[in-house]
Parts: sequence; structure tokens; C-alpha cells
Amino acid sequence: MKTKHLGFLFVLFASLFFVEQARALEFFVYHPSPYKGKDCWITNYWYPAGTDDKQLLAGGWGDTYDILMGFDTEGLPKRPSRVTLALLNTGTTFHDWWYKKRIGRAIQPVVQMNLFKINKPWLESFWWTEVTSSYGTGLPGSLNCTKITELPDMIHVSTPMPAPLGGYYPLADSFGPGRDVLPAPYPGGWYFIDVTKLYPEILESGILFRPVYNEPAKVNQFHSSDVDVIDNRPALIVEYDECSYPVIPPNFKLPLPGGFRWCVTMEIGGGDALDPQLVDEYHTNTSAPGNYFSIDFSWRRALPDGTRVEVESDRIPVLAAADGWVIVANNNDAHANGCYVVIDHDGDKNVNTGYTTRYLHLTKEVVPVLPLIDSSIGLGTPVYVHQGDVIGYMGNTGPYSKGKHLHFGVRYSNQGYSHTPELQIVRFDGKHMKQYQTEGSSGVRHINSFFGSNNVCRPLSYVFPVIGQ
Ligand SMILES: [Zn+2]
Repeated sequence: MKTKHLGFLFVLFASLFFVEQARALEFFVYHPSPYKGKDCWITNYWYPAGTDDKQLLAGGWGDTYDILMGFDTEGLPKRPSRVTLALLNTGTTFHDWWYKKRIGRAIQPVVQMNLFKINKPWLESFWWTEVTSSYGTGLPGSLNCTKITELPDMIHVSTPMPAPLGGYYPLADSFGPGRDVLPAPYPGGWYFIDVTKLYPEILESGILFRPVYNEPAKVNQFHSSDVDVIDNRPALIVEYDECSYPVIPPNFKLPLPGGFRWCVTMEIGGGDALDPQLVDEYHTNTSAPGNYFSIDFSWRRALPDGTRVEVESDRIPVLAAADGWVIVANNNDAHANGCYVVIDHDGDKNVNTGYTTRYLHLTKEVVPVLPLIDSSIGLGTPVYVHQGDVIGYMGNTGPYSKGKHLHFGVRYSNQGYSHTPELQIVRFDGKHMKQYQTEGSSGVRHINSFFGSNNVCRPLSYVFPVIGQ
């Protein structure tokens, strides 16, 4: 009888274990660029306007510094398992030099914070009187901030100090009289807040961090989205269960040769890196079937050490992002897409199902074994290609191309909308497509958004072409 019970328990636990194992938890880290990042800080006293610089300050020097932060979540997964906001404390203590000089010791830059929801649309530049109704520290002003009292269960405070100062804290037990106080961050450490309950609507409208007191020199100083080092910018860590989606995307890589970092000039969502105010309708949901998930790559590239290669070339190979059937290889440069290739990644050679990748404006020299489109005949015979196979060369073909570049896009069921769930979990070289959004630099072409490729270039002629039936 006991054995029977144990057997039952064993089956129970084994099945639980199996269910746990079957879950495929994936994640990506999304650092908004200065162009998409919406974060600033403000003080009520000495310069009461929003300050959009490389830092975010919450604390006080007798006055009160608040941090405002919002996230554009268009195109990100709508059903994540968990979303964590990560902020990096600069580790350089605020006014450290001044304080040491006057008081003879370094500042303890630790102050607990309250979290508020911003209920009105806002910009990175505004006046304190929008936060509060006066120059005092009361709330709300016209932004109508309301306190978030149901804080997440866990906060992670990373610190250069040894445990137990760093680690996971059960919020209700350790901090504050209630569940409405965030613990103080440590200098130089990452500060993680579980924001799953705030995702996506509250993160979209914006959150405000306010210190619980404003003693002199009690200031939390974080890096903002305006810092140059992408990995130091505020981030959302988005975890999701791949098994809750009907399909799992291929392990895509960037469609350009590895060993280089490739410059993005126009990115997912349609902001133009040449001018953040410009929106390219060919990179949006505007016209069916949608092209939100598309990136324009420049021929400009950089070596891993940062040395830029400023040589325009007709021989920049365009590589298959993943294995699949080439179902379109058009070499008619009068087509709106110019000479272009479409690869179908789900094996059925049907553009209307599964994932497809699209490579536009190629040179007229299409790789010979690819199935050319002939308008009088229709599609050629699909050819199977492997990840990294050269499928063409970066060009400037088609009536709408304004310079040599690769327009690279992803679709699912031949749709490229930002609200397509299957596209919201697509990653390239481990990065979510939204990570390729770049900062604009009005009128300046030489921007700093270079992305490394891990794809390995293989001339297609070396690959035995599989002839479809
Ligand atoms: Zn484009």
C-alpha cells in the first residue's frame, strides 16, 4: 500500500517535473535607444524643468529630484511571463567631489523610493508644476500621478558589496511599513524591479520615482537611455514561454557577414536614423500587409575594434538569415522592391504560412541558381538555402531606394504588423528586433548604431541545390 502511494507521488512529481521541463522560457533584454527611450529627471527647486541628459536622479539636496520613465512597447510580446525593469546605478556618487571637499566623506547614495503612475501624456521636457500643483512636493499636478501601492513581490538589488547586502529581497518583509516603498539601490549595482503588473499599459503611460525623503546628498543616480554604451541604458528584461505560442521562430541571424558590425540607418517601426522625425511608411503598419519588423542596413560597417570601413562596395554579400526555401528571386529592377529575394522558413514553400524573410534592393546580379521570377511564367523552382548562404548583394535597385542599402524584413503568414504575436518573439542573433531601433542624428549620416553579426558567409555555389518537386 505504501509502495502504491509512493508510486502515485512519483508519477505526480514526475509529471510536474515533466511539465516544468517542457516549458521553454526564453527572454531578451531590450534597451531603448535615445530616440525611443523616454526618461528624464526633474527638480522642484533650482531648475524646475525636465532634464533629458545622460543621468536619472531621484533623491534630494533639500529639494526633490524625481525620475520619469516610459516605454514604447509596440512590437514586444503581449503575454510575457515576467518583465523586469533594470536600472544601472552610475556608481559615481552624486556631487561626490563637492561633498568630500566640504564634509570629508563620500555620500551614501541610497534612498528608498515610491513609485507613481503618470496618467497624462508627457514629454521629456516639462515643468515641475506639471508634476505637482505648486513648487512644493505635493502631488498631483496636471500629470495626475497616482501612487502604485501594489508593488511586485520581489526586488533585486545588485551591489558590489558582499551578501547579504546584495540579493533578492521579499519586499513586504524588508522594506517600509507597507508594500509601497522600493528599497534603496547601491552605487555601482544594477537595480531590478519586477514590473510585470505594470506591463504594458502603465509602462507605456509612464512611471515616476520619488524619493521617500530629500535629505541633502541622498540621491540615486542611474544611467539614462542617452548614454553611449547601449548595455548601460535602462532595460526591460522580457521573459516569455515559447510553448504558449503556436510556433517557435527559427534561430535567425543577421543577413550580413559576421566579423563586422553593421550600421542601421532605418529601423523597425519606421523612425529614420537620419532624422528621428521622419517616419518611413514602408517600415510601419500603415499599408497592408505591414512592414513594422524591417530594418535598413547601410553598407557602412565597422570592425570589432570599432574601426569604421567607409568603402561603398557592390560586393557586400547578403546572407540567408536562416535555412529555408527561396520562393522569390526577382531581378526586375523596375519592381517597387527592386531586385529582391524572399525565403520561406517553414518548409512548405508557401509565402502565406509561417515565417518569411525578405531582402530588398539587391544588385541586379542575382545569384544564378536562385529561382528567378519571370512575369510571364511566374515563380521559378524554389531552391533550398542554408543559413549564411549568399543570396545576393547589397544594392540600390527599385524606384524608391535612395542609396545602397539592404531593406531586411520578417513576416509571418505574409504579414508584418507590430501586433502579429508570432513576430513579437522573433530575435536576431539573440536580440529582439526592437533592439535595432536606432537614435537619430538629424541630417547626419554617420550615426553610431552598429550591430555585430554572427552569421557565417557561405557562397551559394558551394551548396548542393535541392530541386523541389
Ligand atoms: Zn527599408
